[in-house]
Amino acid sequence: MFRHDFASLRALYDRPLFDLIGEARAVYLQHWPQNEVQLCTLLSIKTGGCSEDCSYCAQSAHYDTGLQKETLLPLPQILATAERARANGSTRFCMGAAWRGVTEKDAKFQTVLETVREVSKLGMEVCVTLGSLTPEAARQLREAGVTAYNHNLDTSPDFYPQIVTTHTFQDRLDTIDSVQKAGMAVCCGGIIGLGETEDDRLKMLAVLCGFDPAPESVPINCLMPMEGTPLAEQPPVDIFQLVRLIAVTRIALPKARVRLSAGRSLLTREGQALCFYAGANSIFYGDKLLTAANPGTDADHALLKELNLGITEPTPLVAS
Ligand code: SF4
Repeated sequence: MFRHDFASLRALYDRPLFDLIGEARAVYLQHWPQNEVQLCTLLSIKTGGCSEDCSYCAQSAHYDTGLQKETLLPLPQILATAERARANGSTRFCMGAAWRGVTEKDAKFQTVLETVREVSKLGMEVCVTLGSLTPEAARQLREAGVTAYNHNLDTSPDFYPQIVTTHTFQDRLDTIDSVQKAGMAVCCGGIIGLGETEDDRLKMLAVLCGFDPAPESVPINCLMPMEGTPLAEQPPVDIFQLVRLIAVTRIALPKARVRLSAGRSLLTREGQALCFYAGANSIFYGDKLLTAANPGTDADHALLKELNLGITEPTPLVAS
């Protein structure tokens, strides 16, 4: 199989826009003929007070963002949210915790495992994003019923130290390796609008293209500038740069779900439609995305209906 490197991704990216999205559309229809969008709900199960210094994040304890620090949510509250998400049409339920990571020895990890076991009984795909993982913690998450683990690369290896200093790009890759060895699908993408170049975005994508197996899903986030963080004044991402990146991702990783993630509330309906046309086939769904605003569920259903896009059914956990 041809693996795209930075040069081939850049060549694709620089094609005339309509040629590029035309090719991305053809690749999309070849691999995803159902013309559906996956709806994912993301719940923050432990908010704020994080030891890491990711400069885009309102949950970092390094910045004064006014965010209320919370402890791990109780299981009944998480289950109630998951049930509501399912009733609203979500097929994937993602739980995120603001901390550096977990090891199998942490008491909080046992609570997370119990939560995963209960949520996985609801028939949705279960995804968690818990930071760095040991190989053993990854194995236990898989056993508890996690279908996918989210761990974003955020940006290129070169630009990463300008965004985060409390852990390294290699730390991210090590956790992804543990996830893959445990047999969980990898959900891994990045954030654009951090001040990186378009080359940085494509270099990040080149790293994703080197994963074996390829990532199951690739969230593409646009920065939501958060007051109090070092990136609070960043300008919004240009819609055509976003569309180009989505199209190149669709061509380079044809079988991945390309998820239009944070920052969707900053896009027009027409902008979102163009992203779907260029190959995005998954969204985060629900009024809130961790600590950031997101379009309301009614608005999303109305948009999908107008675009004649269906909703993807969940894929159950495949036994190893
Ligand atoms: S992105 Fe995650 S690891 Fe980084 S500060 Fe925010 S919660 Fe912590």
